Amino acid sequence: MKRQFTRITAFTASLVCLMGMAACGNDVPADESESSELSISSGVAENTTDNVNDVQTSDVTTSAAENETAGGTTTVSGAGFVAVTRAGVASGASKPNGNINTPTTKTPGNNAGGNTAGAGNNSGGNSNAGGNNGGGAAVSGITLSYTSAEISVGQTKQYPVVSENINEVWTSSNTAVATVDSIGNITGVGEGTCIIKVTSADNPSLGAQVSVTVKKSEGSQQIDGVTYIDGILIANKTYGLPASYNPGGLTGDTYSAFQELASGAANDGLNIYISSGFRSYETQEAIYNDYVATNGQAVADTFSARPGFSEHQTGLAIDVNEISDAFIGTPEAIWLEEHCVEYGFIIRYPQGKQGVTGYKYEPWHIRYVGKDNAKRIHDAAVAAGDPYLTLEEYFGITSAYQ
Ligand SMILES: [Zn+2]
Repeated sequence: MKRQFTRITAFTASLVCLMGMAACGNDVPADESESSELSISSGVAENTTDNVNDVQTSDVTTSAAENETAGGTTTVSGAGFVAVTRAGVASGASKPNGNINTPTTKTPGNNAGGNTAGAGNNSGGNSNAGGNNGGGAAVSGITLSYTSAEISVGQTKQYPVVSENINEVWTSSNTAVATVDSIGNITGVGEGTCIIKVTSADNPSLGAQVSVTVKKSEGSQQIDGVTYIDGILIANKTYGLPASYNPGGLTGDTYSAFQELASGAANDGLNIYISSGFRSYETQEAIYNDYVATNGQAVADTFSARPGFSEHQTGLAIDVNEISDAFIGTPEAIWLEEHCVEYGFIIRYPQGKQGVTGYKYEPWHIRYVGKDNAKRIHDAAVAAGDPYLTLEEYFGITSAYQ
């Protein structure tokens, strides 16, 4: 998975969160942020330069926070991030100023724009990548976009970081439970809960922390020729199913979860119904051969599974409504994408992930994994800043015919 570098250096959004870190996530609406107390400590109070005044003037800060909170939310769309706030140091300060932070001369609006434009822009804008993190601008706050996390033993959770040369120190309260590397990758080691802290190297009194619960990984196992990872049945182009694997229909859990989903959709005025649920090996064989005869194998392989490799054979997958590109962007498709996780389903073949799943975008194909797993995968997607995180990416597995 591609690492996202979300560079959010030297903006003021997280200032409002300094005193109430736990309440601070990127989902916090701007108006909630406003109510927080603002306090800036360490090293900047005596500084009377313009940009420091900007930071300290409460109304300016409030509006900046709104801008930045909004900017941050849209930019990373739920991504995990570390926001490091640095108070500006003006030209003529003790530090040689050839590489004084650009953001200190920006208006909050510009900063928001910079963030929105993405990592590249931010990277150019923030010259502290050049190395003046060590003291050119005092760190005035650190915030994390999530403050608790659950991972399995062996699993790594990332905080896309503010900067490659992040000058912060990450520590774990119990390395037997979870370790953390220098840029905030948290890896589960053993069952339990521990606190991962990030503090400013410049000012160790400033920091933020996340409570990490590590649960036992069930790992990967094969039962009667079927692969399970952490208890989740895997059926893709790499992991096939025996021809004899036949639950006889949708599993009971899958069907009842779908009923719940359908009534949730109905409450929102939408009709979501099953078009194709369980398909046996033999049924899939007939369908696939038909597609190959019509489209050729290469094309057929992008949208139809070979017999023994279809998720429909598991009894855990459902195609809803119209099984065609006409379903893309419909209110039902949008609703599914937003809500299926609540009912224990994931969109199995998301947009832009053909290279990963082996299938083109299929907004109608949902896969039941259970509510806990769906939430876990969703949380991982949020942390990775990738709303379309796939099962393959979540487990680090492939999907390709051998
Ligand atoms: Zn399907």
